[in-house]
Order: sequence, then structure tokens, then C-alpha cells
Amino acid sequence: MRELTYVARRTVEWREAPDPRLQGDGEAIVAPVAATPCDVDSAILAGHATRRQPHMQYSVDPPFALGHECVARVVETGDAVTTVRPGDLVVVPWSINCGSCGRCRAGLTAHCEAVPYMTMYGAPIGGSWGGLFSDLVRVPYADAMLVPLPTGFDPVAMASAGDNWSLAWRLVAPHLRARPGARVLVVARGSIGLYVCDIARALGAREVRYVDPEPAHRELARALGAATAESLEPLPRGFDIAVEATGRVDQLALAVKSLAPEGVCESAGNHFRPGELPLLDMYLTGVTLRIARDNVRAHIPDALELAASGRVSPEKVVSHVIDWEDLPHALPQKHLKPVFVRSDA
Ligand SMILES: [Zn+2]
Ligand SMILES: [Zn+2]
Repeated sequence: MRELTYVARRTVEWREAPDPRLQGDGEAIVAPVAATPCDVDSAILAGHATRRQPHMQYSVDPPFALGHECVARVVETGDAVTTVRPGDLVVVPWSINCGSCGRCRAGLTAHCEAVPYMTMYGAPIGGSWGGLFSDLVRVPYADAMLVPLPTGFDPVAMASAGDNWSLAWRLVAPHLRARPGARVLVVARGSIGLYVCDIARALGAREVRYVDPEPAHRELARALGAATAESLEPLPRGFDIAVEATGRVDQLALAVKSLAPEGVCESAGNHFRPGELPLLDMYLTGVTLRIARDNVRAHIPDALELAASGRVSPEKVVSHVIDWEDLPHALPQKHLKPVFVRSDA
């Protein structure tokens, strides 16, 4: 089979690899049918994650198989797998998790104790599990990891459900439940922020303001019901919830400074360069800041339930639908949210 392999800055290529095989009776082999880059893949493709700097505990050096967001078709299952069968369409979560250790049972699926720390698809951390832009993928804990895609869902629209779409749900939905009608600020650069706009509006935010220098992203945010701005100057104080998904500490600092007293800020993280936060200002305002790798498997079902309600439009964020064979050429291009589809799987 082929693995789409990140080999150098802005360069990916197909490389041959042995077909993955079941290594236990609780495992599955799946074939991605609709896969899409996570927002952090743009940073990886731009070389930001490989720059060895003293502050970076982990860096991911090429070559490695890329991709960690897809809807896949189950090809083969071990005898002990009960929740999915060959032929099923499934959401594949970005991180590997066993479902039965203490942390998994507590919902901390990004911190599973059964596998090496930070184990995930699409980056060579915690072992090599391949990427979801590969022709075939081994899923080690199939019952715990895979989520059947409900009937009627479009795999293209939900290609991001294993990461960015469900992450966006987690960044804003629980906070809006605790603060109905809150004012929501979104400082972003890609799909996550746009999904957040859509979800926040659907869940009754009084105001959603989207900040992004990219005009096309702002236009899409307006179509999703948000007011938009190119930058956070002047500082728009008074938001109850701020979501930062830029990977830039200066933007995170502005987001926390935009909060109302006792406001909450969620960051999608991946700040590959260091920076400073206005801690005294945050103290005086009373800011709750959460910056966390997403325990996505725990809330994929909640995020899918919202998608099933028809109140959101994840398909609007899909910028291009591109044939699987065009991955090496098309993935390095700066598209918002291209989805790569296989007709043969
Ligand atoms: Zn991701
Ligand atoms: Zn676990």
C-alpha cells in the first residue's frame, strides 16, 4: 500500500509500505474514504514543527506518514471486535486510545496509559502508527476508538469529525451550556475557528465575532452568522468566551485581554514558538484559560449529534473536494479545508 509521506518543507510523496495486518483480535484495518488536513498540518507542512528549538520538547522530523482526520471504511476486523463490521463507515479519532485504562475511562483519551505518551496518527510521536492519508490503516483498539458514522451523514462533510470538528464542539459547546447567550470571540486562522462560529451560533450565542486576516475566511464566517474583523485592534473587551486557534502566543494574549470579568478562554494550542501572556491582566480580570490536546474520542458522539440536528453546516467549511490520487500535488497548497476522497474504497 501507499502512505502519503511528509519528506521536506511543503513536500509530500507516496511511499510504498507493507499492508498493515491485524496484530490482535481487538483490532481493525480501515481504508480512509474522505480525509482532510488538520489545521496543525499546515504548520507541519510549513516546517514549523521540525525546527529544533530549546523550548520544544517534541519535534517531528521527516520523513513520516501524514494525516489524522478521516472517515474510513472498515476492511477487516479481529474476532473480538463487536461494534463495527467490514463495510461500515467510521470516524477515526486522531489519537490512539485503549478505552479501558484509568485515563481512558475518565475520558482523557489523549492521555491513554496503554500506549506511549502522545501516541497519534500522522506524527512520529509515541511510535509509528502511520497516517490517515494512507491507503490502509491499522486501528489497535477498534471497539474503543472507532465511531460508526450515522446513516445519512456525508463522509466529506464529516471528514474532520475525528479531530477539528469535534474539537470545535468541545472548545465552545460546554461553555455555552454553562453560560447561555454568551458573547463569543473567535481568533483563528483555519477550519477550527470557522467550525466554532457555526457551532456557537447554532447553540445560541448572543454575539459571535470572528477575527482573521484572511478575507476569504472572514467571508465564510459571515455566511456562518458571525461578525468579523481583520485584527483585534482596538481591543474588543467584553466577551464571555474566547477561542484562540492561531498557534500564536501574541494572538492568545489578545484573546484573553478581550474577556469580560471571569471570562473563559479556550486555546487550540500548537504554539510552536514561545511568547508571553499578560498574567497580571488575566489575574485582575479573572481569566480561566484552558489549553489542552483534545480528548476527542470522548465527545465525537456529542459533536455528531449536533451535526445530525441540522442546526450546523460543517460542509460549508469544506473548501475543495479533491481526488485521493492528487494528494502529493494538492495537499501542500494553501487551501482552507480540502477533503481528499477515494472512489475505490
Ligand atoms: Zn489535529
Ligand atoms: Zn487507555
